[in-house]
Amino acid sequence: MAELKSSFEVVDRDINHLTPKMKKVALAILRVIKIYNLPFRLYETRRSQERQDRLYQTGFSKVKFSNHQTGNAADFVYWDGKNWSWKYDDFYVHEAWVVLGFLVRHHVVREFAKCGINIRWGGPDGPGDTFNWDWPHWEVIT
Ligand SMILES: [Zn+2]
Repeated sequence: MAELKSSFEVVDRDINHLTPKMKKVALAILRVIKIYNLPFRLYETRRSQERQDRLYQTGFSKVKFSNHQTGNAADFVYWDGKNWSWKYDDFYVHEAWVVLGFLVRHHVVREFAKCGINIRWGGPDGPGDTFNWDWPHWEVIT
């Protein structure tokens, strides 16, 4: 049991564990975060099936399989300098995520689309967007 818990706690944030395409996307998002001095950090890259199963069972994920398992997704989570935050209902956290979403769409998603690499965000993209419950999540559409 302790072993299962400890492996659940292991979060892989090595950018080199992503696919080459997703690594390029993640680096571009990190560049936006740095240039605009936004309070975000790369939280997770690749994920084991065991960790995905635990996240699904505990309600932290709504899917049994995510693009993290193949290295085609990365999560960028709010970081206040000491702690991570997923509090979308906090005004500042919420606004920061909206700004990050806007800037990444503006600078990264558009540019990569020109090269045939399509990117999907787990945040609110506008009317008709059904995948909007996972704001830290960015993935390459394969
Ligand atoms: Zn994710």
